[in-house]
Amino acid sequence: MARSRSLPPRLLGAGFRGFSLLPLAISFVVLVCLSLLAIQFWMTLRAREVQLSEAARESANLAQSVAQHAYDTIKEADTVLVGLVERVETDGVSDSELARVHKLLVARVAELRQLHGIFIYARDGSWLVNSQKTLLSNLNNSDRDYFNYHRTHEDRGPYVGPPVRSKSTGQWIVTVSRRINMPDGSFGGVALATIDMNYFRLFYERFSIGEKGAIFIANGKGILLLRRPFDESLLGRDISQFPVFHDYLPKSPVGTAVIKSGVDGVTRINSYRRVEEYPLVVSAALSQDEVLASWRLDTILQNAVGGVLVLLIAFIGYRVVRQIDLRVKSEAGLLEARNELELINETLARLANQDGLTGLANRRHFDQSLLAEFSRAQREDGSLALVLIDVDFFKQYNDIYGHVAGDECLRKIGKVVGYSMRRPGDLAARYGGEEMVFLLPGTDLPGALAVAEGVRQAAQSLGVEHRGNPLGVVTVSVGVAAFMPTHLENQAVELVELADTALYKAKASGRNQVCYASPCEPAEQDATAFAFR
Ligand code: GH3
Ligand code: MG
Ligand code: MG
Repeated sequence: MARSRSLPPRLLGAGFRGFSLLPLAISFVVLVCLSLLAIQFWMTLRAREVQLSEAARESANLAQSVAQHAYDTIKEADTVLVGLVERVETDGVSDSELARVHKLLVARVAELRQLHGIFIYARDGSWLVNSQKTLLSNLNNSDRDYFNYHRTHEDRGPYVGPPVRSKSTGQWIVTVSRRINMPDGSFGGVALATIDMNYFRLFYERFSIGEKGAIFIANGKGILLLRRPFDESLLGRDISQFPVFHDYLPKSPVGTAVIKSGVDGVTRINSYRRVEEYPLVVSAALSQDEVLASWRLDTILQNAVGGVLVLLIAFIGYRVVRQIDLRVKSEAGLLEARNELELINETLARLANQDGLTGLANRRHFDQSLLAEFSRAQREDGSLALVLIDVDFFKQYNDIYGHVAGDECLRKIGKVVGYSMRRPGDLAARYGGEEMVFLLPGTDLPGALAVAEGVRQAAQSLGVEHRGNPLGVVTVSVGVAAFMPTHLENQAVELVELADTALYKAKASGRNQVCYASPCEPAEQDATAFAFR
């Protein structure tokens, strides 16, 4: 029987060696989409980082410029103060000396654009001399912050005070002052330079820092001197508790940080630094929102394009995966159908060659096999034997026990015949009616006789009751023929006829026996009976 070629279902749709194509295709599409999204995400973050770091660099450069400007501006004024202090301390404050100093101060203020005025105050705060053309002497500045500072501090360094309105002109000014000592080292007065706030303001307004950018300058105590955008109410405000002063300056004199402003709540990229030599802090800050505005726009556009691309790939991938799925399924269906067809064909082929009652090969199969084996024996000079088996008194059996019982009896005899086959090449078939046959390729007469005798005995041993048989049980008669069909003129039918002759002889000789017939013997003596009782 041909072996079934059904494939195990787990291999159906397999792309190669245990890998199923469908999950592989789905994984591939998902992987491509996820990779695209990841790359998109990474690029977006990277672009944001680049934008922020550029803004940080820009604000740091800005802070550097602002600090340099503050340094230069104050330094020029302070240089004048240093000279003045030295002169007053050395030459005193006689009227003639003050007159010379007055000329000098008028000239200095005319030279330095940032200077609003230069003043020298006596130890009680009264005005000694200043840069104004007409000297006012009835004013007193002992109430000013810088005056109090120098009176109570012995250090000789410059002091930058909070912004104040000028008593002489009403303008907003920044004060830089130094202490004047008496020859004994006690407090002798104050030398003061006032700087016009507009000088800083105009400079800060030159920078392009967007609508929400900010620049400020504060003194060392965290008192705001000036801020862009300009707001008069903020001048002099204490910002020492705001993040730049409170959190960052204690750690480093220079730095950049993203800080939410304590003044207006705007989040900015903030670069701050202390000004060299002077107690000043400057900061330049760009609004994070403004810095990231173009990045946001780019991100929206890129994400829209990327999203459409991913959707497109997902859609195409879905279609491809679906096609693969359908193909795999139809392939599996086809394979299943093919397997079923093969099974059906095998069954049909088996049925076409099988006898329905006994399960032995049928007459058709026997005829084909006989021709095939006969010509093979002819080609190979081999021997071929035929054993014809006929149930004795079977007509009576039917008459006595009925046809159904007759069929059952034939089934039993068929089983005995089937079991009696010894070699794989042997064929047991139902020849017709109650006759069965063995076709034994490569078997000589003695071998065939042995098989025949075995069947006869086995049939009798079944002990199937048969009142119509003198022996009381069902028996069979067997005719055997065997020869080497060497002559080309030999026909397969000769073998059958010989076996038939032998069977006739067995019947004639009393049944339940095996007879054989040989082709070379005369017709009358061509069958020899073996009596077995
Ligand atoms: P003999 O001992 O000389 O062989 O006598 P016999 O009665 O067996 O011989 P005969 O050829 O006269 O009878 C054969 C009978 O076998 C005739 C038929 O009713 C019966 N027969 C043939 N095929 C079948 C079958 O398939 N089923 C049944 N129940 N009987 C069958
Ligand atoms: Mg018969
Ligand atoms: Mg018979």
